[in-house]
Amino acid sequence: MSATHADPRPHPESVTGFVADTITFSNVDGPGNRFVVFLQGCNFDCVACHNPQTIPLAQGDHFRTSVAEILERIRPAEPFLGGITVSGGEATLQLDFVEALFTAVKADPQLSRLTCFVDSNGSLDDAGWQRLRPVMDGAMIDLKCFDDEIHRSMTGQSNADVLHSIEMLAGWGVLDEVRLLILHGVNDSASLLRRTGEWLASVDPAMRVKVIGFRAHGARPHQPPLVEPTVGELTTAAANLQVAALNLCIV
Ligand code: SF4
Repeated sequence: MSATHADPRPHPESVTGFVADTITFSNVDGPGNRFVVFLQGCNFDCVACHNPQTIPLAQGDHFRTSVAEILERIRPAEPFLGGITVSGGEATLQLDFVEALFTAVKADPQLSRLTCFVDSNGSLDDAGWQRLRPVMDGAMIDLKCFDDEIHRSMTGQSNADVLHSIEMLAGWGVLDEVRLLILHGVNDSASLLRRTGEWLASVDPAMRVKVIGFRAHGARPHQPPLVEPTVGELTTAAANLQVAALNLCIV
């Protein structure tokens, strides 16, 4: 007689995560109209963070939300959505929750057509991305700076894992976009941006790259004050970045 073993993993809908907020419609968090889940907690401490309230790894019960609750928030909006995106904070710090959410969406008769995207700082390691790979349709990765020393000064962390994530996700064909936040006087020197563009084009000559100008609104005070790039400075930054057929846009 053969023994049967029950799957020890919890049902995906019962998995809980620490959710800072959800928004029903966004057109800046991946392709089309998307439902966005902002997860609480980040392993970077970016000087230019626009959501600093999502950085602390606060795990109070008021943040705890089940996958089933998120599915119920998505359902009324489903006819108007192209997909869902997990963001943060850094969503991949809560890998169990993200994996369970995407698994549940894909198993749900009403929601299974929705694509599942991750908006990430790129710090997740290979094993983590491998876990998400079967249920993830795409990822947007922030590259704060190609230069590791400047990256550390901007985020408190090395960019080694970020660069590796970009290469790996592009190789899998699921890298939707790289975002580069321009902090004038910090990460926008012409030579640095040229090196950045050359590296990005070496990974994928047609990579989509979004060049985003830093905006002080929502960011924490900093000494010396962080400088918003002008339209002209942003255009110059994009021109310095542009090599090969990189698919650049400026926002
Ligand atoms: S990675 Fe994103 S959420 Fe985390 S500190 Fe940086 S800007 Fe903020």
